[in-house]
Amino acid sequence: MYGLPELLQHSNAFLCRFRCSPVAATYLAFDDTDSPEGMCTTYLAVLMLKELREYDLIGLPRLVRLNPNVPWKTRGNAAVCLPLGRGVGTSDYCGEIDGIAVQSYRRGTPADPKEVLAVAEAVLEREAEFDCDKTNPGIVCTNRRPSPRMYWRAVRGIVSLSEAETLLDECGAQWRKYKNGRGIIGASSSISWRPRDRTWEVIAYRQEHRIGTRREIDPLSVVEMDRNTVNTFNNYDYETEHVAIAPSSPCPVLFGIRGDSLDELLSARKMIRGEAPSSWLAFLSNQGTDDHVVDARIGGLSAGFSARVRACVTQPPRTIKGGHVILRVSDGREIDAAFYEPSGSLRDIARQLIPGDRIIAHGAVRDDPRSLNVEKLRIVHLAELRQKTHNPYCPECSKRMGSMGAGKGYRCKICGGHTSESAAVTKVVPRTVACRWYEPPVASRRHLYMPVRRMPGDDINKLL
Ligand code: ATP
Repeated sequence: MYGLPELLQHSNAFLCRFRCSPVAATYLAFDDTDSPEGMCTTYLAVLMLKELREYDLIGLPRLVRLNPNVPWKTRGNAAVCLPLGRGVGTSDYCGEIDGIAVQSYRRGTPADPKEVLAVAEAVLEREAEFDCDKTNPGIVCTNRRPSPRMYWRAVRGIVSLSEAETLLDECGAQWRKYKNGRGIIGASSSISWRPRDRTWEVIAYRQEHRIGTRREIDPLSVVEMDRNTVNTFNNYDYETEHVAIAPSSPCPVLFGIRGDSLDELLSARKMIRGEAPSSWLAFLSNQGTDDHVVDARIGGLSAGFSARVRACVTQPPRTIKGGHVILRVSDGREIDAAFYEPSGSLRDIARQLIPGDRIIAHGAVRDDPRSLNVEKLRIVHLAELRQKTHNPYCPECSKRMGSMGAGKGYRCKICGGHTSESAAVTKVVPRTVACRWYEPPVASRRHLYMPVRRMPGDDINKLL
């Protein structure tokens, strides 16, 4: 198992041995086009498809989330990649734009990246939120994809602009960068994604005149959809009674439903009552896969990464100002595992842990204060919890001894003999938590967070 610094070194070495793989599509990708006030990278995909009608989709549009800890993201660090070309054979219905069906072909032949880019860059230049300081668009088009190792670095660590440019040059890619050009990092990383695990999201978009106004979605229809579908996830937060399929920003998205079955998502979309969308599109995605999480030792943790650590609780939990819960844990080296207020009921679980309990914690590493911001928790072993029932009997006189004060042990009033604190008579108290996964409420999960219902089996040995 690698610590994070070793992991980075290894991935750098992988990048040096980078190879491009030939593909049967032209990959168009873009990133960093939106601002907190508007737009959405996935909506730009809709606008691009409108103007790239002479090309077919070869496979689904891809919505790829990258390292959720990068400091310069505006929202969910998403990039979008469209595989385009001339479709051959069977096609599937994967969206509707202004009343016209969108099809995606299972096979096809690539197009000319220069020609595709010429159309696409004009759309980006017209639609991107250039006025926002944090918006630094990038657009890439290529028939040869960067190695998947680029994706793994971008979803778990940091990729520099020059690295991305070198990789794109090696692929003979066409690209255009704007302002500081950082957008090409996400764009090229989304092209390099080859799913090891994948989910889908069907996103519905608002009619132009409604964008920025309050979304009209019937919450009851979301609950009904959640209860009547098997493979969707993160639809409704029952803890906070929050509709989780709709964003809160003034962006063009009406709602997005995520799940493990595209067929089911296509039906789930129709179950939502409320304002009529203008268009919708299905995306293949790395959301809900935990791709960002690496196994790590506490001593190897560095800020900006998401890690999975196996550790033992060493001190009782402390609740600090703001209701956050801090748990000191160790795997030989110690760190504070922090359960912040948004983790809701997960804090109640943390409060019930005691020294000796063993856990697996997933979380983002913070430097100041140095801590692991826990996003998901598995209890692996529960220590025995004992409660004192009465003072010990004197081993000489068999009479009940008296306490000499908290932590000071016991003294026999008859013979004057002493015993330690641990001689007290205790009973085992049943634990109020179990050996299983615990997770935060839906509303506070990150896009890449794998819901426990998607976790592979419950075979703990797989994770140890
Ligand atoms: P969205 O709103 O679409 O969910 P966002 O607005 O939060 O995403 P972006 O606009 O995509 O985030 O901005 C993130 C920026 O960080 C982009 O320029 C992207 O290229 C860059 N980036 C993403 N991942 C990495 C990484 N691992 N290393 C370096 N730069 C990255």
